[in-house]
Amino acid sequence: MAYIPSRDLEPRVLAGDTRAIARLLSRAETGAAEAREALDAMFSHAGRAHVVGVPGVPGSGKSTLVARLAAAVRRGGRSVGIIAVDPSSPYSGGAILGDRVRMGELGGDPGVYVRSMATRGALGGLARGTLEAVDILDAAGFAMVIVETVGVGQDEVDVARAAHTTVVVSPPGLGDDIQAIKAGILEVADVHVVSKCDRPDANRLIADLKNILALGAETTFSGSMVAAVGNASGKVVSDPTFAWRPPVIATSAIRDQGVAEVLDAIDRHRAMLEQSREIDARRALIAERRLLSAGEGILRDQFERNREGKVAALVEQLKARALSPHMAATRLLREIAVGGGT
Ligand code: GDP
Repeated sequence: MAYIPSRDLEPRVLAGDTRAIARLLSRAETGAAEAREALDAMFSHAGRAHVVGVPGVPGSGKSTLVARLAAAVRRGGRSVGIIAVDPSSPYSGGAILGDRVRMGELGGDPGVYVRSMATRGALGGLARGTLEAVDILDAAGFAMVIVETVGVGQDEVDVARAAHTTVVVSPPGLGDDIQAIKAGILEVADVHVVSKCDRPDANRLIADLKNILALGAETTFSGSMVAAVGNASGKVVSDPTFAWRPPVIATSAIRDQGVAEVLDAIDRHRAMLEQSREIDARRALIAERRLLSAGEGILRDQFERNREGKVAALVEQLKARALSPHMAATRLLREIAVGGGT
């Protein structure tokens, strides 16, 4: 296949050409320098899709649920793009066959696009590559973009925070249920889904989650979730009238139960965001995260590029304790900036 420059892919992606989308997604995934301009253009065309983050531990039932959710979105007449981020995936360039199989009856539907992404080895690669992939599907015109991330670590939380609506999937039977799911991810949930509710042990988890949320509502969880996850600088001001309470929804994806309720909660959340000024707070928070994530990316790239030169020289000075790490980093940043580093 002839290489098509990313610039030439741009109009095709905007027209919804799935092969062009696939190619540009691969380049976002690998962080190809050649695609920089096209990816920047995608950002400027994006902004219409409703972005839904779905983090959860491996095996929680996310993929099964997301496939059902996508079918429900299609029944409602909207198009949907799905990005499944799996850091452990041996595939790159998209496990296209696997994705088609996974989507079952939705496999041949042009209103659904599914893409698995392995993530780059570098730390911070998850957020950057994934969010650029979201821009691509958004710019290509998908009305909803669902981002499924494996795990509940910092990277996944960052991706979840970059969504308009975050649906946290918690399965029963993890042993100490709450222990397993409370690690930072519960606070970013706009919608809680308890999966696999055809299992008897799901009832305890539902009760536990509701208790935790009721306790939280008396303290940090009251009113806006952005307030709860807002940054320390306090620049993100949330709307005090925004009174969304994250619901706990019991689902059984294999029986297709509770899925319509999940979609309804996502849509209600979006509507409530837009009716209040909370949507601005959220957009500001997302913009802030993306700025930080892009900055980290640039820094990492520069670091790698200067490994033999500036970095090596500073490492020597650190080894000799002639500079502190903080002083060395400050110097490195200054030198990179002088070098016109982008
Ligand atoms: P993911 O790793 O979070 O994407 O989870 P999967 O969707 O791949 O599901 C993990 C396992 O849980 C699979 O064996 C599924 O068949 C099973 N599973 C998914 N949804 C349900 C459900 O609603 N009920 C039950 N009992 N099992 C489910």
